[in-house]
Amino acid sequence: MVRLNRRFVYQFNIEDFGNVTIKEYKNAKSVKFIVHPNASITITIPRFLNHNVLSNIIKNNILKLYEMRERALKRLNSNVNNSNYNIVKNPIIKLDTDIIKLEFQAIDEEKIEYNIINNRIIVYYFNKFPLASENVQKIVVTAIKSILPKLAKKYIPNRVYELANQNRITIKNVKINSARTRWGSCTSNGTINISCFVMCLPIHLIDFIILHELCHREFFNHGEQFHNKLNKLCGGKEKDLNRELKNFKFN
Ligand SMILES: [Zn+2]
Repeated sequence: MVRLNRRFVYQFNIEDFGNVTIKEYKNAKSVKFIVHPNASITITIPRFLNHNVLSNIIKNNILKLYEMRERALKRLNSNVNNSNYNIVKNPIIKLDTDIIKLEFQAIDEEKIEYNIINNRIIVYYFNKFPLASENVQKIVVTAIKSILPKLAKKYIPNRVYELANQNRITIKNVKINSARTRWGSCTSNGTINISCFVMCLPIHLIDFIILHELCHREFFNHGEQFHNKLNKLCGGKEKDLNRELKNFKFN
């Protein structure tokens, strides 16, 4: 048993089930089971309840606890399936673009870790943790953040020069940063800056961001001529692509 910061709140390990949080309340008259949206469980008990008594109550209700958690997990998983792969909106659950593959593997050990093989992130998580739980998601974010700059440096400069050459636009330099407030920018001396977070987008949106910055080589503001040029370079789809890109806004 591990006492948390507050005196009357602590972790309690139920064999074969995992940790639950126990909260003691002075005025509680009975033991109550609460399942949270992230499928974690809190048991509220009267203050100073004998722990053998508590263990027996838990034993007698263990099936109920499993059922409660199962229901919460089902709800979570249906959310997981509906969620967008989106680094900038939380929670980040799925990420499967042409460039980055995020995979999950449930394991029996009570730990979470990840491994990166080329462009694949494999997250190993304890099979009793829900995928959307905070501790799993934290590892996912860490893993993604560690892989983005590397992948961006490998992919973005080549692609920028490719698109610049195709459209006969000259540039001076390409730089990768980790800006969270904008996808890209273009300096007056011809340096194209691209955020490594673009690597979480589908490939056609990465191209769209690059083309946008390339158009700034000719038109520095977002005037009519700029939009005409960008629309032409992306096959008349500027509005559609802009709309699509807005789904990935930073928060
Ligand atoms: Zn712009």
